[in-house]
Amino acid sequence: MDYRYMGKTGLQLSVLSFGSWVSFHKQINDGVADELMGIAYDNGVNFFDNAEGYALGESEKMMGRVLKQKNWERSSFTISSKAFWGWRGAENKPNQHGLSRKHLVEACHEALQRLQLDYLDLYFCHRPDKGVPIEEVVWTMHNLIQQGKILYWGTSEWSGVEIMEAHRVAHQYGLIGPSVEQPQYNLLERNKIENEFLMIFKTVGMGTTIWSPLASGLLSGKYNDGVPADSRFAITGFDWLKDRWMKESYLNKIKELATLATELGITLAQLSIAWTIKNPNVTTTILGASRKEQLLENLGALPAVEKLSAEIMQKIDTITGTKPVLPEY
Ligand code: NDP
Repeated sequence: MDYRYMGKTGLQLSVLSFGSWVSFHKQINDGVADELMGIAYDNGVNFFDNAEGYALGESEKMMGRVLKQKNWERSSFTISSKAFWGWRGAENKPNQHGLSRKHLVEACHEALQRLQLDYLDLYFCHRPDKGVPIEEVVWTMHNLIQQGKILYWGTSEWSGVEIMEAHRVAHQYGLIGPSVEQPQYNLLERNKIENEFLMIFKTVGMGTTIWSPLASGLLSGKYNDGVPADSRFAITGFDWLKDRWMKESYLNKIKELATLATELGITLAQLSIAWTIKNPNVTTTILGASRKEQLLENLGALPAVEKLSAEIMQKIDTITGTKPVLPEY
């Protein structure tokens, strides 16, 4: 495993990490979660991603039970939670979601209880909240760090402007600003990492924990001939995700990418994941898996990086046609 500093912080994260969205509680039980986290950890993964909203809190409870069972040294791994959506779904009352001081503090306490931990290593604002003053968010996160309840805080799917505004406020009051952003990044979704955030990487230097490296599995090629019954897009309630990704234009590109991967002697999932970590502005790529074989295959993306020469990267850009066009100087 390789480790990268998270932006300008002193924290080192494994370049491949493991997340629990959709899979924990909805698809897998404690036994499989234990097996998958064990495989990840034994392969050097030191970051496990979670959120209050995943399976309405049940994902954190499951991860907490696994961590208790594993009894790994607390200093050997990092855990995140994220607040914004709450965990009561449609039952959320006004202060039970969002980024108010009340919800951020309460969500932190609840995540610690569910995960059975004393502190979170990373705590994310899962989305920006247009209704809450940015000063309130930055002060709250700073104070949670002072209280030892979280070690670093970050944003997820914030705009570059919103991130810089948080840094401006932090600078103004001498507070600890966000040090990490969690955006989507994959072969089909590149704009934030390769365009919008470029200035941010150069100036305040955010780390990134990127999500959906396989576009929810699409970039493994598993949907090329339709939706398998045991896959994410077949789960009740995930039609919106299927509709987002099951498009002829994407599938055509993916078939071409699959041919390229075969020529390189790697799988399409490995090519897709290796491509994300080839970008030095990615601190860690969060893997998702609903079974052991997937995780083992995806961990094989690390040695696959060396197969992505400049020529191959160019070929990938030509096939996908998704590389942001930047102004020429
Ligand atoms: P991916 O895009 O990699 O999708 C993972 C899913 O794809 C797996 O659960 C599995 O689903 C399928 N899959 C994975 N590997 C393979 C393979 N080799 N062959 C075939 N199918 C495969 O990542 P996620 O979308 O799960 O995102 C990763 C993590 O990022 C999440 O767990 C979460 O922690 C985080 N995240 C954060 C978000 C945010 O807003 N901050 C949003 C979304 C995710 P199946 O078997 O069910 O088909």
